[in-house]
Amino acid sequence: MGQVKYVFVTGGVTSSLGKGIISASLGKLLSARGLRVTIQKFDPYINIDPGTLNPYEHGECYVTEDGAETDLDLGHYERFLAENTSQKNNVTTGRIYNNVITKEREGEYLGKTVQVIPHITDEIKRSFIALGYTGNYDVIITEIGGSVGDIESLPFIEAMRQTKWELGHENCIVIHLTLIPYLKAVGELKTKPTQHSVKKLLESGIQPDILVCRSERAINTEIRKKLALFCNVPINSVISSIDAKTIYDVPLLMRKEKLDERVLELFNLPIGEEPGLVYWKEFLTKLKNPVHEIKIALVGKYIDLHDAYKSIAEGFIHAGASNECKVNINWVSSEDIESENVAEILGEHDGILIAPGFGERGVEGKITAAKYARENKIPFFGICLGLQVAIIEFGRNVLGLKNAASTETDPQTKEPIIDLMEEQKKITKKGGTMRLGAYPCTLKEGTKVFEAYGSSEISERHRHRYEFNNEYLEKFENKGMLAAGVNPDSNLVEIMELKNHPWYVGTQFHPEYKSRVVEPHPLFSGFIKAAINHKNKKK
Ligand code: GLN
Repeated sequence: MGQVKYVFVTGGVTSSLGKGIISASLGKLLSARGLRVTIQKFDPYINIDPGTLNPYEHGECYVTEDGAETDLDLGHYERFLAENTSQKNNVTTGRIYNNVITKEREGEYLGKTVQVIPHITDEIKRSFIALGYTGNYDVIITEIGGSVGDIESLPFIEAMRQTKWELGHENCIVIHLTLIPYLKAVGELKTKPTQHSVKKLLESGIQPDILVCRSERAINTEIRKKLALFCNVPINSVISSIDAKTIYDVPLLMRKEKLDERVLELFNLPIGEEPGLVYWKEFLTKLKNPVHEIKIALVGKYIDLHDAYKSIAEGFIHAGASNECKVNINWVSSEDIESENVAEILGEHDGILIAPGFGERGVEGKITAAKYARENKIPFFGICLGLQVAIIEFGRNVLGLKNAASTETDPQTKEPIIDLMEEQKKITKKGGTMRLGAYPCTLKEGTKVFEAYGSSEISERHRHRYEFNNEYLEKFENKGMLAAGVNPDSNLVEIMELKNHPWYVGTQFHPEYKSRVVEPHPLFSGFIKAAINHKNKKK
């Protein structure tokens, strides 16, 4: 295909309408028709990336192969499309300004006053189309964070207007996702907020090409007609997006509404055959008709916002479906766990997952949970900090190293069993400075992880500063805690696994970032199988 086609997705009325899921669903449908698609997100905040944000601010920080710390919507894009994203797929206002200010200092605009228009908008436009120059894509979908009318997203909206004008309507379209609220008192769906948000876009010179209308109830022909008339779009461009049972229903719902066909028509592209989506449908059938059911304790400290552990939760959905198993997650606050109550809190579970995390808060509770899983032979999965606490626990209670700790929480400890990586010792800056992105790992034959992956060479994504201190490795292995996966270049321990336990695995990397609908993660799958066995044994 010649000209790259651009789709912008904006949001109106409120935030949290699911622009990410609509973008991912459209991407899925177009790629199922053979187009090469990628999705990018432009966020209006000033942080250069979300890497320095507390998860309670903005949910999970998702990490790409190339080590970009990104918005969690990129996780949806990868899970739906089964395609990697990169640093270029997530751009913030902060990054745009940073680029422009760097250029200003380098003298690129010598003699000129540097202004929002044209310098900031030009930089945004360049970033909008940057992936188009790779030659890797036919369609680029760009999700604009926030809602239309927000002061901070104005430069993005203006850059979008200019891009549409420059590329022409047949190469660039705007989909506006909006809310149609249902007023119980009068028993009616209301179109007025949508009319206002479309007017807001029109004030900025943008006529949306398609409206995707999120609602609790189905919108009938009358409402579609009204929206079409007042928002200037043909009636077949009013797409209904009714609340779905699972986000994975949305591609099929959008297919039913012919969102993909409308996009192709507007781009003057052939519609072709209807995509089969065979695997997707099989996945949904398994997801909705489980044979098994298990209860997993997810022990973390940001449990009040489930988005903080989004990829882990989705990893359970993918691997759960492939094992025909409904995975119920019980969100447990690590700060509530103490030796006296651990049995009461965790006793009823079929598996215990200890989540990633930073800092001191809640660490002792996680250590207690790891001990409980080890001693009671409950399937255990530790991710990043989850592995580190399992190591500390084993050091203290099996090897008798009473002072075993991580220098992250106890910088003066006499037993720095988890310590800052050598390459991290000189780093003082915070943003983007962790060990980030994909690294290779070699698995030991005969281990459970080797069996799960079915291969000895793997690659997984990382986000951490601290590591297992190899000086202690021999002691650990002598007592049955094995380095089951090691980085072949640096010798860093990436996976530890306990012998003589049904399934006790901790990974320094984040397997959850690579779980996809069409490719459930082998470790999530292995953990779920072990939890099903554990449950069956209890019966
Ligand atoms: N805080 C730990 C480290 O930096 C673990 C990080 C994580 O769980 N992502 O090594």
